[in-house]
Amino acid sequence: MPHDRILIKGAYLMTQDERLGDLAGDVLIADGTIQEIGPDLQDGQARVIDGSGTVVLPGFIDTHRHNWQGALRGLGPAWTYEEYRSRVQIGLGQYFEPRDVHIGNLAADLLSIDAGVTTVRDESHISNSPEHTDAAIAAHWESGIRAVFDHGWPSTEAEAWQFGSDRTHPDDIRRVRRDVLTDDTARVTLNAMLRGPELSTPEVAEHDIRLARELGLRISMHVGLGEWGAKQQAIGRLAGSGLLGSDMTFIHCCTSTDEELRMIAAHGATASVASALEVFMPGLGQPATNRLLAAGVRPSLSVDTETIVSGDMFGVMRAALAYQQLVVAGAAGPMDRAPGLPTFDAADLLSFATIEGARACGIDDRTGSLTPGKEADLIMIRIDHANLLPATDPAAAIVANGHAGNVDTVVVAGRALKEGGVLKGGETVFEQAAASRDRLFRAAGLSRSGAAG
Ligand SMILES: [Zn+2]
Repeated sequence: MPHDRILIKGAYLMTQDERLGDLAGDVLIADGTIQEIGPDLQDGQARVIDGSGTVVLPGFIDTHRHNWQGALRGLGPAWTYEEYRSRVQIGLGQYFEPRDVHIGNLAADLLSIDAGVTTVRDESHISNSPEHTDAAIAAHWESGIRAVFDHGWPSTEAEAWQFGSDRTHPDDIRRVRRDVLTDDTARVTLNAMLRGPELSTPEVAEHDIRLARELGLRISMHVGLGEWGAKQQAIGRLAGSGLLGSDMTFIHCCTSTDEELRMIAAHGATASVASALEVFMPGLGQPATNRLLAAGVRPSLSVDTETIVSGDMFGVMRAALAYQQLVVAGAAGPMDRAPGLPTFDAADLLSFATIEGARACGIDDRTGSLTPGKEADLIMIRIDHANLLPATDPAAAIVANGHAGNVDTVVVAGRALKEGGVLKGGETVFEQAAASRDRLFRAAGLSRSGAAG
């Protein structure tokens, strides 16, 4: 796909690059990369975008989303974890055809782009067949988003694949590595979504980790899930068996112990907090953001499932902040002890949602900050909209008041996917998503309300 040559003039740049900091200035984008940053840049060939009244940031990086559920958006905001598992993963997941995965992923990607997400780590536990996997990957190429595709397990017989499962990771991951996602510098790359010792037997966990490393793939793992996670102590067991490594990202960590969180730091591993999901959905535990900071881990942030929470990072940042304020007030759950826990502010949240996301995905050499030479993944947020005025502190304004409607321009790998507040393409996607939803509900014998009918 052709690259755009763009010069953004007169914006406020929050670079997330420690050396550059925040500055008023211009950004030149060409050949897919950030060429130059500074005051008064000139370029005769570039299309000029007026950046006055805006903040330019590296795009948001969502380090954990189950994109395949994009057409099931908003089904159960009041569900518990068990309701989500039984209705979506076990209930509907088995009826997904490759075309449903494709449209779900596409819907999720487009909403992400619209809301300023330039990279998504797609936790794809819908590997029901090789065709399902290929359909998921094809959607990421089509949408234009940067995607880290995490190959997971099937949603057919979903129960047999979790909570003590003795099944090893689907062997199809070898084919995907060999034939489909071979280039680790491409816009769509491959990781392994493993179940680890929390969801599979110790033998399977070790087998799968060795498989991922043999294939040269980074690893994500859901851990610290509710009371089950507290009993399993997956991170501690990985450390004990010599398997914990810097190639791992631990998702949730809600009921992982403080000692386990310190092990993440000691091994150079990373974490993903799905703060909105964790506060909305009973059964997982509470966001570990402040405990991770106390352990020496600056976390990334993630949406998780759009069946329950909104697919944008504004809500995720606000939920993390809301929960922190409960911790500070001493009103949070028993896992958190308010005195002495470090806190974070709006500027920290923007770094969690950008550069820390890139670190968690192992792509911070290519994206996550406005650094000349990195890929041009950036967003322009209007802070002269009524809901943000007077935007005294731009970071605070974006975190407290921002929404997708304020995202004016989104550039991924040097291509403008949203400009002037208008998302490009995808006109028929949401119709197709509704048709997919109807087909899935019919297959599962559900009525629109989610009850049997
Ligand atoms: Zn998840």
